[in-house]
Amino acid sequence: GAKSLGRNNYQVYAANVDTAQQQQGELKAHLRHAERNGELRVFYQPQVDAASEDIVGMEALVRWEHPQLGMISPGFFIPLAEASGLIVPIGEWVLRTACAQAKAWEDTYGLGLRLGVNLSAVQLMQPNLAGVVASALKETGLEPAQLELEVTESISVKTVPHLVETLDALHALGCRIAIDDFGTGAASLDYLRRLPADRIKIDQSFVRNIGVDPDDEAIVRATIEMAHRLKRGVVAEGVEIEQHLQFLRANGCDELQGYLFCRPLPTAGFDKLLGERERLVAEGRAMAMA
Ligand code: C2E
Ligand code: MG
Ligand code: MG
Ligand code: MG
Repeated sequence: GAKSLGRNNYQVYAANVDTAQQQQGELKAHLRHAERNGELRVFYQPQVDAASEDIVGMEALVRWEHPQLGMISPGFFIPLAEASGLIVPIGEWVLRTACAQAKAWEDTYGLGLRLGVNLSAVQLMQPNLAGVVASALKETGLEPAQLELEVTESISVKTVPHLVETLDALHALGCRIAIDDFGTGAASLDYLRRLPADRIKIDQSFVRNIGVDPDDEAIVRATIEMAHRLKRGVVAEGVEIEQHLQFLRANGCDELQGYLFCRPLPTAGFDKLLGERERLVAEGRAMAMA
């Protein structure tokens, strides 16, 4: 009957919860050793100039190559790392690895590419963050102006005490600040006015609706216009189709990032891309990514 069915369902459900919690616990324990075991990878996604479609920078995006589970996305393990505090050593590892790689590409290709590195709220609450960034720059030799620290808009002055001072200290090192996922948080305008942000990244949820929802198109246009009036640059994330590109270009967006141009690539793949670009340019041709 219904009752026994219900009980069976409950047992199945309880068993699933047990397994899920157990799996999460095991993953957390493994995550603790992931860096030491060399299981973390940094992937790089190109950012292109909206007019020329040439590469002008890249965003560092971490992945976890689990020996049994394969490639685990940051959307899954970054929250675990934040809850356990492991994001602090992991974030520092990503920063150093990406800065060293960007310097190596600078030495080989000399393009002055900008490197975007994501910072978690937990990292922004560490009193020595500016010192950590300063030493990563000094030890790798990357120009501070080539480093852009990405801070998601959902981080607010309420959740991170001294946020403005922290970002000012990072800015004073000579690196740039970008506000990530712009438009998804609550205090957008106050945020833009008060933070030392050099540019904003329009969240992919708006970009996805270009050609679909006129309201989201209006938000994208207004965001670009506002950013420019405040003397900030604008990057659009999640550019997937030609129609997105045409709309963003027509409305003056500065730079673009998305699958239309390139997916995040492992180091070797990104290096190959830069090599191909160099050969094209040597032949007098342009690198148009789309
Ligand atoms: P994010 O910083 O907003 O990064 C952009 C995300 O959009 C990346 O997902 C990227 O792969 C994805 N993406 C790029 N182009 C497209 C596109 O055209 N369409 C779609 N649908 N997606 C696109 P990913 O790599 O899975 O990273 C997810 C989030 O995890 C990042 O969002 C960031 O918040 C966080 N994350 C990644 N690496 C790090 C890190 O080293 N430290 C910290 N604290 N967070 C990180
Ligand atoms: Mg980002
Ligand atoms: Mg984003
Ligand atoms: Mg995002």
